[in-house]
Amino acid sequence: MSRSPSVAVRAAAYPTRAGAPPGEGVATQAPATPADERRDAPSSLSCVIPCRNEAANLALLLPRLRAVLGHLSPEWEIVLVDDGSVDDTAMQLADWTAESGVRVLQLSRNFGKEAALSAGLAAAHGRVVVLMDADLQHPPELIVQMVEHWRRGAEVVYAVRESRRDETRLKRFGTGWFYALVNAGSRVQVPKDAGDFRLLDRVAVDALLDLPERNRFMKGLYAWIGFDTVALPYQPPPRASGRSHYNYLTLLRLSIDGLTAFTIWPLRAASVVGIVIALLGFGYGAWITFAYLIWGDAVSGWTTIVCGMALMLGFMLIALGVLGEYVGRIYEEVKARPLFVVRREFGRGLQKPADH
Ligand code: UDP
Ligand code: MG
Repeated sequence: MSRSPSVAVRAAAYPTRAGAPPGEGVATQAPATPADERRDAPSSLSCVIPCRNEAANLALLLPRLRAVLGHLSPEWEIVLVDDGSVDDTAMQLADWTAESGVRVLQLSRNFGKEAALSAGLAAAHGRVVVLMDADLQHPPELIVQMVEHWRRGAEVVYAVRESRRDETRLKRFGTGWFYALVNAGSRVQVPKDAGDFRLLDRVAVDALLDLPERNRFMKGLYAWIGFDTVALPYQPPPRASGRSHYNYLTLLRLSIDGLTAFTIWPLRAASVVGIVIALLGFGYGAWITFAYLIWGDAVSGWTTIVCGMALMLGFMLIALGVLGEYVGRIYEEVKARPLFVVRREFGRGLQKPADH
């Protein structure tokens, strides 16, 4: 199968359906289309867009998107998820649903982008589903290339940033560290420069919807499900209107969510550091005993005791904090609240899922 000339990520890089170790495979049927067989145009296509205060952007995006989708599939729908907007977004969306093919899912409050994406995925009926942002940073025209890769057999096609030159040094530094930490020693590698702009075949959508966890670190979940995957390089333009919803603090919170969802090595690291400190303490104790027996010096060492205690206490609190992050996540999972609440759904999209 011919692949994108630049980056072609085969499913072998991820835990795959066939031959995956117990507990790591995806309980989804293999796709009906063998990877090397060329498919026709998708029988139906859904485009899911999470929106929070995007009124100005939607007015620009939707006409462009409709023009693209009309050429790609005989049946298409745009699923707009209103994630607790407080501007004119809701009104704009209601106007847009007068046009067939546009559906709106209004959430009862702001649940966050990851939950809004899950809501959109659950509502989408298409044989293939495209996820994209509302702010025109994800050019609709790229969907044509995504569908072309799907027709060649890919089950997931994701857009990957060619460069991060447009970001601040601090953000690039933080991103580099985050992906290094999240991928450290893990069999599932989360691609560094990929975002949510991607095409998913129905098998991949169903696999994502089958994952029961509340902590939806979507970039990790996309990687975890595997499937035959192609990366498509692109350079995102700046946001058309408004500002990003993410500042450094929210990014840090999301990073901790991602780390706790996909790693357990911080817990192990705490144990290893604990063992090293205990060994050092034991060695130092042995040395003091030896020195006392030889030279009889019993009183000195006050500074060492205070420094040692501060070090141990600091380490123990850090280890407790790390443990607390994981325990807190278990608490969230055990409560098993729904990921989102839908206030109302309106507009006409595709027919029922039975059609594809
Ligand atoms: N978004 C959302 N809920 C939120 C935050 C963001 O639905 O709580 C949507 C937002 O409307 C946009 C997409 O997620 O369509 C990406 O948001 P943004 O452009 O702020 O993120 P960035 O591009 O800076 O990562
Ligand atoms: Mg954006």
